[in-house]
Amino acid sequence: MAGNWKMNTDAGSAASLMQGLAEWSKENPGHVTMIVAPPFPFLAEAVKMAARAAQGQETPIVVAAQNCHQEEHGAFTGEVGVPMLKSLGVRACIVGHSERRQYYGETDAVVSLKVRTLLGHDLIPIYCCGEKREEREAGRHFEVVSAQVHGALGQLGTSDLAKVVVAYEPVWAIGTGLTATPEQAQEMHDHIRGELRKIGGEVAAEIPILYGGSCKPSNAEGLFAGRDIDGGLIGGASLSVEDFTGLLRIAQRIKGT
Ligand code: PEP
Repeated sequence: MAGNWKMNTDAGSAASLMQGLAEWSKENPGHVTMIVAPPFPFLAEAVKMAARAAQGQETPIVVAAQNCHQEEHGAFTGEVGVPMLKSLGVRACIVGHSERRQYYGETDAVVSLKVRTLLGHDLIPIYCCGEKREEREAGRHFEVVSAQVHGALGQLGTSDLAKVVVAYEPVWAIGTGLTATPEQAQEMHDHIRGELRKIGGEVAAEIPILYGGSCKPSNAEGLFAGRDIDGGLIGGASLSVEDFTGLLRIAQRIKGT
């Protein structure tokens, strides 16, 4: 279960959100994997708090960034490089989020470079894909998502592909209160797994595919019941300890072993 805090919180509220999650994690050993993606300025503190909560724990909280630059370092004012994230103890990074595509013009060509740089430094890329509303209405959603998956991940070898997490996030469902139905989500996840199989064969079966788009405790049961829905990438509901841990509990019940 991954939480994308986006450009929310401040130093105080980020610390208390992280504190609440860390306490829950300690009280619930063996919970499903929890990934949190705070804004850049709060990553270092989040890593420290996660490390403190991880003492003797089999399921430490994974701290992720929300973005990175494709180059390792250089004259890229305002950007953040993967080696910087790695040096802080950040273990994963969201790439290709629809807000990055929409507002910053990110393409799958750039995202594929980011994926490679992350893998080169042993960070887990959380690769987001998903169609816009007009693309679904035109019946082009499978085609659009296939092109995204192949554009960003198609060049990876099997062992690299196996380290990627994919998030299906229909753009029309992000932050809108609209959610894909469990059937719509499952059929797209099944489709994505099929595309991953074309790239990497059998490793596709092991790649976590998360659903994202207005997912919250009240609608998660049906979504997480989908065979190919391995968890969630959560925006709004990840800003509340109660909602986010509620989602972790639901996932634990449905997916946990
Ligand atoms: C997201 O932006 O990744 C997301 C899923 O947001 P929300 O849950 O708020 O729709």
